[in-house]
Amino acid sequence: MNDLIVIGGGPAGVAAGVYAARKHLKTALIAEEFGGQSTVSDGIENWIGTVKIPGADLAKALKGHLDAYKGEFVEVVEGERVERLEAIDGGYRATTNKGAKREARAVLIASGATRRKLPVPGADELENKGLTYCASCDGPLFSGQDVAVVGGGNAGFETALQLLAYAKSVTLIHRHKDLKADAITVEKALANTGMRVFAGYEPVEVKGSPFVSALVIKNRDTNETQELPVTGVFVEIGVLPNTAYAKDIVAVDEVGRVKVDARTQRAYGADGALVPGVWAAGDCTDELYHQNNIAAGDAVKALEDIYLWVKRN
Ligand SMILES: Cc1cc2nc3c(=O)[nH]c(=O)nc-3n(C[C@H](O)[C@H](O)[C@H](O)COP(=O)(O)OP(=O)(O)OC[C@H]3O[C@@H](n4cnc5c(N)ncnc54)[C@H](O)[C@@H]3O)c2cc1C
Repeated sequence: MNDLIVIGGGPAGVAAGVYAARKHLKTALIAEEFGGQSTVSDGIENWIGTVKIPGADLAKALKGHLDAYKGEFVEVVEGERVERLEAIDGGYRATTNKGAKREARAVLIASGATRRKLPVPGADELENKGLTYCASCDGPLFSGQDVAVVGGGNAGFETALQLLAYAKSVTLIHRHKDLKADAITVEKALANTGMRVFAGYEPVEVKGSPFVSALVIKNRDTNETQELPVTGVFVEIGVLPNTAYAKDIVAVDEVGRVKVDARTQRAYGADGALVPGVWAAGDCTDELYHQNNIAAGDAVKALEDIYLWVKRN
């Protein structure tokens, strides 16, 4: 039996793998892919210690760092997806889509999330060409420009507030007439002269070649369409955490993110108590903010705690 199973190959999973090796914890790290969500980004400008790095290079650097440590203590199972996590005598067993099984006393869930994509024509083609899923990553690139935000929840309004610091104008589109975001956040955003909201509208097309030049929206009552001349479209219509395989073991919030104790990254169970031997870190958790540095930092925090727990138990 291993000391630890780490599930995930993004910044959280890789940070955990490196720390596990350095702490001589016998670990199986299972990752479908390496690098994480920002691998697709042209340039990441907030990975601390690096002024700018293409997402693909960050993925290589993460993998390289882990490879330098794999061997005696850390086994890497690459290209396989954990489909089941179950409790066994003295620990947990993870089973992958290819039938591999690994057992350990402790588990770190670091399988991240997938952004819910905008399902309209033009959205896939113009992704990273004006259409983006990360305001804190790409917002500053739209300084002085007219941009749109899709999504009227807290994430949408918080994105709008961030963008108002750079953009000339921000137009937020929300499907329903009632806004889902907290009233105080909505008020703050609407206090800006550059902010307007289309509630009861939905996007039907993103236009532009080679970069975004307009967002077409439809009034859901009248079906009338209109074209908003914008150069940026920020999509905040939710995330899909990769946690389905762990739902029998840990408690998840309404969108499927693992509930954790923020001091230690220990996971909560359905009964509201901490689950012995299970931690979670990064975008798969109900941590308020999701960024590469936070994911790596949370995983490091978890490893400090896991190490003490393994030595004590
Ligand atoms: C387009 C885009 C650009 C971004 N740009 C930036 C940026 O510039 N700066 C920044 O700080 N943040 C950025 N972010 C946010 C950042 O990417 C995330 O906060 C970060 O990747 C979270 O890391 P993570 O390790 O928790 O999860 P993820 O990055 O989601 O990684 C999850 C890992 O787990 C693996 N996995 C998933 N399910 C399973 C399973 N069942 N079994 C095994 N493996 C599994 C995946 O293959 C992946 O390797 C961006 C996000 C997006 C979508």
